[in-house]
Amino acid sequence: MLPALVIHGGAWAIPDAEVGPHQAGLDQALDAGWEVLTSKGTALDACTAAVEVMERDQTFDAGVGSFLNTAGQVELDAGIMDGATLNAGCVAAVRRVRDPLRLACHVLDSWEVMLVGQGAEQFALERGMELCEPESLVVERERRRWERLNQGGDFDQRTAFTPGGAPNDTVGAVALDHLGRLASASSTGGPPRKRPGRVGDTPIVGAGLYADDRMGACCCTGLGEDILRVGLARLCCQLLHQELSPQEAAESGIAALKERVGGLGGCILLDPKGRVGVAFNTARMAFGYCLASGERRAKVGEFEDSMGG
Ligand code: ASP
Repeated sequence: MLPALVIHGGAWAIPDAEVGPHQAGLDQALDAGWEVLTSKGTALDACTAAVEVMERDQTFDAGVGSFLNTAGQVELDAGIMDGATLNAGCVAAVRRVRDPLRLACHVLDSWEVMLVGQGAEQFALERGMELCEPESLVVERERRRWERLNQGGDFDQRTAFTPGGAPNDTVGAVALDHLGRLASASSTGGPPRKRPGRVGDTPIVGAGLYADDRMGACCCTGLGEDILRVGLARLCCQLLHQELSPQEAAESGIAALKERVGGLGGCILLDPKGRVGVAFNTARMAFGYCLASGERRAKVGEFEDSMGG
């Protein structure tokens, strides 16, 4: 049933103290995206509205407040895809943009698909966006975390997704609008202490996001290197196309992530009928959805509720 919206705010061992802020952020993002869909707005605009709320919420690892890389800087990645046209707009490793998904939307409106670093920032200026000082994206909490992690010596990114590990609060959304158009959008600061210039799955079409009105829309979170290797978002959409239900497709995709590369993460999925799939093999995952039936949910799900690993 049309319309439908599914969002996520990261899959990792979200501590009890952070469950409330995650749920509050998800609720606000659902409100923003659902308002667009129920006013007959597009799936693209609904995904953008929901993700932008979470980019501005410092609870999440996107926009201001993101994790710092080894050089102590914020570098942001974001992407958006239109299931009707297969157009996509993606940006990576930007350091002077407060709203990376907004910039990705400008790329979507151009003939290019992906712009990175200084070239992407130059394009932001051309599109009338203001650039910010890189330091203005850094918050004190992350500066302190960075110092702590520096003292700890080598940091294994994989531990971030297991209990007690460092957070990974990438955000994303998939939507189906009243005309049956699907879209997917995603935004992240990447994992803590990533190498400068490192780009994960989040802004990569087919890995962190995918949307095709003929198959479905998917958005992923988790350790980007593993998600890239299996092309998880496109894989889940392809599984949908093979007549699996969205829940079965999401579970099969996460099972493949685990089985093929030992990956940890989660995904949200919508099919062209507005049916939902959510699966993860991390300790917890923050997700929510609004459906035309009136069903609404925003929660930090437990591993036991998911399909398991
Ligand atoms: N997928 C993101 C990345 O690797 C991290 C995350 O989803 O939390 O950049």
